[in-house]
Amino acid sequence: MEQQTHKNKQTLSDCKSSQASAVPKSAGRRRPQISVPGYVEGILSGNRTTLSRAITLIESTRPDHQSLANEILEACIPHVKQAIRVGISGSPGVGKSTFIEAIGQEIIQQGNKVAVLAIDPSSSQSRGSILGDKTRMSKLGSHPEAFIRPSPAGTTLGGVARKTRETILLCEAAGFNYILIETVGVGQSEIAVHSMVDCFLLLLLPGAGDELQGIKRGIVEMADLVVVNKADGERVQLAKQARRAYKNAMHLFPAKQSGYITKVMTCSALESISIAEIHAEIKQYIHFIQANHFFETNRKTQRKYWLEESVRSLLLQFFKNNKAIAEIYPDIERQVIAGTLLPFQAAEQLMERLR
Ligand code: GDP
Repeated sequence: MEQQTHKNKQTLSDCKSSQASAVPKSAGRRRPQISVPGYVEGILSGNRTTLSRAITLIESTRPDHQSLANEILEACIPHVKQAIRVGISGSPGVGKSTFIEAIGQEIIQQGNKVAVLAIDPSSSQSRGSILGDKTRMSKLGSHPEAFIRPSPAGTTLGGVARKTRETILLCEAAGFNYILIETVGVGQSEIAVHSMVDCFLLLLLPGAGDELQGIKRGIVEMADLVVVNKADGERVQLAKQARRAYKNAMHLFPAKQSGYITKVMTCSALESISIAEIHAEIKQYIHFIQANHFFETNRKTQRKYWLEESVRSLLLQFFKNNKAIAEIYPDIERQVIAGTLLPFQAAEQLMERLR
């Protein structure tokens, strides 16, 4: 089986092409159908081709694919082994892909298996703008112990986040014990990623002086580890200054619920400098929160959050599909947009229809 896994090694271009269609190739004519037990066996034995095909089912909008995906998930869930989930955030160009390429290899060298996923709300238009370029992470992408999957397409962040959360579970069932989730440093997607990881890492540039400028305060506040990247060549000094400035700025934030004091480090993802130290710091943080039980408390809080999010989105869907509501919704929406009706009053008027 292991041999087969290697032979069928998934490439980024596979990911891209499978993602490019709402109807997965895996369920099409060219590939033989796999039964649910076949999917489960393949995933549990770490076969990345089967894993990839199952994720394609999760991402599909076809109801038959979705129910197949649900059956696979249900069968896999009892076998999910606890992995370390790390979120990696930062503005475009800060070096996220380069960093993941470097730390991914470091993590593998220590005897682990790494899955790299992404959340990019803009990818619904651009079809996977992050992790979508197969020239990025080429070394990690071709490593037998790594699995890279671009951001799923979707119209809502909630939908994309759900697919990613289900993908995490399948990857964990397939034996990946590190899950790295990349996201762009712009707002809502950070909150979604923060709500599905154990450790949230923020990458920054050595732009000393401007301290926290340009980065949303809330994102820095969420970080369990801050890393100033590109600390190489002429930028070493600048990076050190930036590290000091960010370290001072950290005192301005309230203490973290985890009880851990956020470290600020420097690295060069390009030259693999201090990458091992960053991995060691992630492990130290995880040990700390496992020992004080924040790890499990946080996972429970996250599950509760996603239950509420799922109820919210299903209710909205149910609400909009209701005939009585659908009759008046467009008119009410128009009034709200025009500013002649307040949103809360509009919601109450709509609710009246259900009573
Ligand atoms: P992303 O958009 O955050 O994923 O950033 P990329 O990983 O694509 O990197 C953007 C650019 O910064 C690329 O040209 C990289 O080669 C470069 N880069 C990334 N990390 C480093 C680093 O540690 N040092 C230097 N000098 N350049 C880097």
